[in-house]
Amino acid sequence: MKKELRGFDSDVLSFADRRGIRMQVTNTETEVFKMLQDRGNLTTTTADRVDTGAARRFGESLATDPRAAAIDQKIASLESRRKELFGDQQPLVGFGIMGGVMAGAAMKPSGPPTKGIDAKQPSEPPQVPPKMQEAMALNGELMKLSEEKGKLIDARSREAGVPVRSGTMFAGQMSSDMMAEFQGAKTPAEKQQFEKMMGAVNGDRLQAARRESLRNIESLAARMDNPKMKGMLGKQLDDMRAHPEKIPMDRVKHNILIPDVHYYRPGGKGEAVLLDSENLERANKHVDGASGLYFSGTKTAQVDAAAVGRDGHTHGTASHELSHGLDYEVAAAVPAFYKTWSADLEKAYAQAKTRGASITEYALTNPREYVAEGVEHYHRDRALLKTRDPALHDVAERLLQQAGKLGVQ
Ligand SMILES: [Zn+2]
Repeated sequence: MKKELRGFDSDVLSFADRRGIRMQVTNTETEVFKMLQDRGNLTTTTADRVDTGAARRFGESLATDPRAAAIDQKIASLESRRKELFGDQQPLVGFGIMGGVMAGAAMKPSGPPTKGIDAKQPSEPPQVPPKMQEAMALNGELMKLSEEKGKLIDARSREAGVPVRSGTMFAGQMSSDMMAEFQGAKTPAEKQQFEKMMGAVNGDRLQAARRESLRNIESLAARMDNPKMKGMLGKQLDDMRAHPEKIPMDRVKHNILIPDVHYYRPGGKGEAVLLDSENLERANKHVDGASGLYFSGTKTAQVDAAAVGRDGHTHGTASHELSHGLDYEVAAAVPAFYKTWSADLEKAYAQAKTRGASITEYALTNPREYVAEGVEHYHRDRALLKTRDPALHDVAERLLQQAGKLGVQ
């Protein structure tokens, strides 16, 4: 650790020491996770918290939301046009894999066999029947609408503050079993718990989406000619009837909401804890992304072991975290100095924000990160800092000088 902080003036380090700032090297993700939890920086959620009824009401209200309803109506009219085109032979499952299979089958040339002489002209584009062309255009349009609706669900749920995740990443047809896996559920118990939450959040909409999907697949199976394929699909159908969580559904059409929970395993293994997206983001930032943390309450700087002595983006983690400590402790030790200095810092930060540039992008996160990045880079490459952000160079230097002065007293 001493080596990590070799760039610092010894008086500055002695100030940090006197004020009780401690540096710790953490070793594992699990450790960091526990520490985040212990210090209240991370709250795990429980399955009950998701079962609020608010999400369910919100999902129901989507059907009467004017914009959502307008999209639904457009989708319905495009689907009925497709039915007009294909009648019973319409590609039944909207824009999923089966839609693709059906479209491919229907595209096989249906005219008279190609004459020998024509076969020598492979450059001629394949003839797509006009009906198919329209069907393909319809599918494209439907996909766009589906995406639009997905985004709308996301935006509306954020506005409403409802703890659900509609997730545009789940476009197209997906079963809740697959969604559970996406959210990190692995064990049968976890999947069962997720399924229960899906039910709590969606109520009748879940059954409606599954019923429709099953009907479509059954109808597809009924008109299949190939006995082998028909048999395979029949088996899949039996499986789906026994395990409704395996039925793919049109999430967007039926306003299916996804509970905002993630099964998170500290250290990548062991028992999962439930995190909502906000906490997940926080955990990921600290556990995976960030290489250090500073806790002002306990005056503890934590540096990930992997970041110690490493070049590249994590280089300087120790000095960055120590800078947070200096920032807090100078504020506590000399409030009068800090007040003036702070005003200059805020000004420099505001200017950097307006410019949209500083020594790093991370420096633009907030004034605290701004000064920490400044002090880190002051020790890393002073000249570069002075060129890139002279105002930051100056405030960083003044903070260090003040800390040094207090260190020799
Ligand atoms: Zn920081």
